[in-house]
Amino acid sequence: MNSTTDPGLLSFIPVAPGSDFPIQNLPWGVFHRRDAPHPRVGVAIGAFVLDLAVLEEKGFFSAILPRVTGIFDQASLNKFMAMGPDTWRTVRAEVSRLLRHDTPDLRDNAELRARCLLPAREVTMLLPVEIGDYTDFYSSKEHAVNVGTMFRGPENALMPNWLHLPVGYHGRASSVVLSGTPVRRPMGQTRPDENQPPVFGPSRLVDFELEMGYFIGPGNELGSPITIDRAHEHIFGMVLVNDWSARDIQKWEYVPLGPFLAKNFATTISPWVVSLDALEPFRCSGPAQEPEPLPYLRSSGDRAYDIALEVCLQPGDGAAERICLSNFKYMYWNIAQHVAHHTVTGCNLRTGDLLASGTISGPTPDSYGSMLELAWRGTKPIELAGGQKRSFLEDGDTVIMRGWCEKDGLRIGFGEASGTLLPAGETGA
Ligand code: MN
Repeated sequence: MNSTTDPGLLSFIPVAPGSDFPIQNLPWGVFHRRDAPHPRVGVAIGAFVLDLAVLEEKGFFSAILPRVTGIFDQASLNKFMAMGPDTWRTVRAEVSRLLRHDTPDLRDNAELRARCLLPAREVTMLLPVEIGDYTDFYSSKEHAVNVGTMFRGPENALMPNWLHLPVGYHGRASSVVLSGTPVRRPMGQTRPDENQPPVFGPSRLVDFELEMGYFIGPGNELGSPITIDRAHEHIFGMVLVNDWSARDIQKWEYVPLGPFLAKNFATTISPWVVSLDALEPFRCSGPAQEPEPLPYLRSSGDRAYDIALEVCLQPGDGAAERICLSNFKYMYWNIAQHVAHHTVTGCNLRTGDLLASGTISGPTPDSYGSMLELAWRGTKPIELAGGQKRSFLEDGDTVIMRGWCEKDGLRIGFGEASGTLLPAGETGA
């Protein structure tokens, strides 16, 4: 049904085995050349970036985008995202065709190739989307049970609402940063001793949250909800998300309105936006939902995605090592349910809005998606290969998240979302 994901497709550009970006992926991103600060939209292919602004200027998309120009000569994907799934799909099919081993247009035109195919190491990636609003959910049952057990005991782990609606909160879009951006340890108010007044200082319990995020393409009118069956038409694609969290600030501030400053200092995303079309072969069934959700949240068919997710921790003076292997398919509430729930009041989503899953923990302790859970609130510190121990993140630690789908020899990857934690009070480079 979707020829762009056929595992047999080959590009004239050599793609190394294990690459995240074979011709079946074609994720969207925004970059500039090292020697020219002009941002433009591109697609990743193997170790190269295809400059779509050059192809658009040369007229390759003139049959698809007839009345508009400069869709890809942009500092963000928003203009393209607003055009909707039919256009995304048609452009994707044309990019796929141009990169095929048996299409001569680019393959046999050295001058054009030199202009539009750039080694990835020679470009600087930019934040791909101008993000208006950021909403974060809390949709992994394993994560919610783990955190609930730690703070309220196993019998009260899930709040009464949790199995009936996808719990979420409105986050902060201004501090969403691109992979590679250093993150400063936040200052804040905490209450380490319940018998003493609160204190102010650097957070001592900085954590990561392994999440995935997705961007809204066309939005909805205020007052007009998006029904669950149409939710996918509004989702442009997905990225990796590290929703950095300050657990000590969170613990003191979160009652009764939820997280505020504990989550607003940084959220890291990966640069390449992988389309739902590329992920189509990896759709799978999600966890059984019991009790059955209310009608507006009932989705049919396979709405989960089988996406392996890993977190590596690299101490400032050591090597990176994997500390978590999870999977997006563990999510209890799916992305269509998120969109339906978010808009059921009539709330309008807008092009470029970022919605994120919440921490994705799996059933086993090595699949927990945060330090809080991996080290079980500090009671079981993680031992790193170099002998160091971690209960939460230390200054100089780099957190690297990766995600990929694999089946029938086909690998669709997300690249990585990484960030280094800087000491409090020091500005990022
Ligand atoms: Mn989160």
